[in-house]
Amino acid sequence: MSKKILVVNTGGTIAMSVDDSEGVKPLDDQAVNKILPFLEKHADVTMKNLLNLPSPHMTPAIMNQLRLDIEEAFQHDHYDGIVITHGTDTLEETAYFLDLTLSVNVPIVVTGAMRSSNELGADGPVNLISSVRVAADSDSLNKGVIVVFNDEIHAARHVTKTHTSNVATFQSPQYGPIGTIAKKSVQYHHAPLDREHYAITHADANVPLIKAVAGMDPAWLQFLLEQKIDGLVVEAFGLGNLPPAIIPTLQQLLDKGVPIVLVSRCYNGQVQDIYDYEGGGRKLKEMGIIFSNGLNGQKARLKLIVTLQKTRTFKELQQLFDH
Ligand code: ASP
Repeated sequence: MSKKILVVNTGGTIAMSVDDSEGVKPLDDQAVNKILPFLEKHADVTMKNLLNLPSPHMTPAIMNQLRLDIEEAFQHDHYDGIVITHGTDTLEETAYFLDLTLSVNVPIVVTGAMRSSNELGADGPVNLISSVRVAADSDSLNKGVIVVFNDEIHAARHVTKTHTSNVATFQSPQYGPIGTIAKKSVQYHHAPLDREHYAITHADANVPLIKAVAGMDPAWLQFLLEQKIDGLVVEAFGLGNLPPAIIPTLQQLLDKGVPIVLVSRCYNGQVQDIYDYEGGGRKLKEMGIIFSNGLNGQKARLKLIVTLQKTRTFKELQQLFDH
């Protein structure tokens, strides 16, 4: 019997078209629906056009509404899997947010396209067909949210957009894809060990992300002292070290009760408390800065937005970021 798959469209290039002036924008609100006949060979597909957003317009609040809409759809109907189409710019963020928060126990796939629907070599149709095949495959169960793109399957936690235009943009540095899509089969070669789940109600914490650069001006951080922020993520150098000039301001933010999560600008490895000079990781850890576990900055920010609903104590947040 054919599997029942829900496809939820949220927008992005997969739903856009190129016009005569070579501008790409949402011109045809049925662009993704036109792929439907090609999906029906693989599953019994229900398609819902929920949003038509370029993904730079996405926010954590909209991601949370998407989560609620999906959970509600599952209360009314049974589906064996779900596919979400999304713009690629923030796709990894929505995928990871849903990985942390969505309570639906079926394969959940996020996909999109690098080339718009009427461009030569458009990758949207094949990505969507592959995604429906993956969502309908029982081996896709219990893998957390997965991203299907260019014949590869990636874990939401590790995947990131690595190229501005290439169709092979989605990669999982250090880990690689967890599976591949062949002409006739879906093959997994490894799987995430476990999945974190947080029951949340909202996603409106204000958590900026700051990147460390050589000789950075502390004024940018001092500005944050005047703002109402719930937390801060700092992308540090290498193993987790920062310019000494910004340390006093970080200390002031900590003293105000603002949790600070440290990630690395490097896209492989994780921050560690090793260097013991001024601004070095060991000193940052002693100050109470929370060390993340290999997440990139944009995902650590979402994890902080989500976990702040569970606790605001630095120690407990550190335990959650150790996971
Ligand atoms: N800028 C587009 C978006 O993220 C790119 C894409 O969809 O691939 O919506």
